[in-house]
Amino acid sequence: MSIPTEPIPNIDAAELLGRQRSAFLREEPPNLAQRKARLARLRAVVLANREQVKEAISADFGHRSHHETDIMELVGVIQSIDYLTRNLGRFMKPERRHVGVLYRSGRAWVEYQPKGVVGVMAPWNYPFSLTFIPLATALAAGNRVMLKPSELTPRTSELIRRMLAETFPADEVAIVLGGREVGAAFSSLPFDHLLFTGSTQVGRKVMKAASDNLVPVTLELGGKSPVIVARGHLDERTMSSIVFGKLSNGGQTCVAPDYALIHEGDLEAFLTRFDATVARTYPEGPTGADYTSIVSDTHYDRLVGLVEDARRRGARVVEAGVAPESAGHRPRTLAPTLVIGAGDESAIMQEEIFGPILPVRTYRNMEEVIDYVNARPRPLALYYFGNEDNECEMLLTRTTSGNAGVNNTLMHVAQDDLPFGGIGPSGMGAYHGVEGFRAMSHAKGVFVQGRWNLPRLLRAPFGRLVDLALTVALGASRKSGHVDQ
Ligand code: NAD
Repeated sequence: MSIPTEPIPNIDAAELLGRQRSAFLREEPPNLAQRKARLARLRAVVLANREQVKEAISADFGHRSHHETDIMELVGVIQSIDYLTRNLGRFMKPERRHVGVLYRSGRAWVEYQPKGVVGVMAPWNYPFSLTFIPLATALAAGNRVMLKPSELTPRTSELIRRMLAETFPADEVAIVLGGREVGAAFSSLPFDHLLFTGSTQVGRKVMKAASDNLVPVTLELGGKSPVIVARGHLDERTMSSIVFGKLSNGGQTCVAPDYALIHEGDLEAFLTRFDATVARTYPEGPTGADYTSIVSDTHYDRLVGLVEDARRRGARVVEAGVAPESAGHRPRTLAPTLVIGAGDESAIMQEEIFGPILPVRTYRNMEEVIDYVNARPRPLALYYFGNEDNECEMLLTRTTSGNAGVNNTLMHVAQDDLPFGGIGPSGMGAYHGVEGFRAMSHAKGVFVQGRWNLPRLLRAPFGRLVDLALTVALGASRKSGHVDQ
């Protein structure tokens, strides 16, 4: 039996977790049909609220194009739900595993069980998809889910609360609204799994809190993702892709190219073409309909501060594209900005930027690029533009990043079948693809003893039979190239 839907915010989160856990233990784990039905309900409520989602996000940001929200959030959510629905039967199937020679008449397999109650914590930058894709994944894996969206997008968070309260009973999917303190309390709950998307700084705190209860975590964090352009490769497709990756959502994208590494002979051409491409992409300038505002005054001031710090330290700062129509026409509008020659000591080369500012550095050869990337924290994404297979392979094999894109930016995130995640300071674990399903499932290994039980011969009292069995085991293992445990 399900507990009736009701407004969640005032309900104590720990009590909610207790309710979800007892419902999970009381009821059978959901079968394929039940999981698909939950995904279908989720799909329907997303499509029914498409306009409201776009309006809420635009109001929360100050301005964001409805097209951008469709493309960057709603399409991704629907694609993920459809991908999970199509592949769930295959994901859920137990997997037969190898049985060593000594145990041959037995059978071994892995079955993927729901973990129980999964906590999902989301940031503000893609407030809809970064809540709904983890939610869909957790539901596909048969779990119950508690969500904690960001306090910086209150209209979207409230809309999500209403949509989910209409669609799921609170013991199946529930939402907890609130700021940092609520986030801190949420991350200290004894979930069966916790997926956190947000900054590296808060990710550290979340992992600490989860460790008290030994809650397994998936951490989707941020960092400084480089875009590397091969010598002379400044064609229209390259420039358009870099501008798209850097300026979509006003640069507030975790996998946006953070800074560019350009061959020293190409610097001036890159600056000119970047400027022309921005002008073509946003012909109405940064106050036009297609350009997104910065989410809050604090974030806006931080970005302005990064540029000022770099300028003070001697960097060249150039605004790109069409100048804004009238300053102050729309609050928190920051023009696309290039910062050239910022030194490593400047804040802009140390912090994740998360805004429409692109520092540009030059290189002489790929060895230098590899050393530069490897001397810094491992990024969430690395992008390469060029046609040199050797160079590309060298870059991919000798650097480590969460994901990588070749001759595109951001598009790896849209690939349903690729794991999405970081490494080290940019994250831990991954979701999307089968990796997401598995992150939220428990892989239980099962061994069923067969009729012939050879290992029994290896038990005391030891005698001739043991010697015989050892000859079989060790001899046979040598032949098959490994020793079975
Ligand atoms: P954030 O870390 O400030 O907040 C994320 C969530 O944590 C919010 O729900 C917030 O309320 C909560 N929170 C805040 N303080 C907390 C605390 N002390 N304890 C527990 N929870 C707390 O991140 P943000 O500013 O919302 O988002 C921007 C960051 O997220 C960037 O670093 C970006 O790169 C990263 N990000 C990563 C991905 C990814 O998939 N890897 C996607 C989007 C954004």
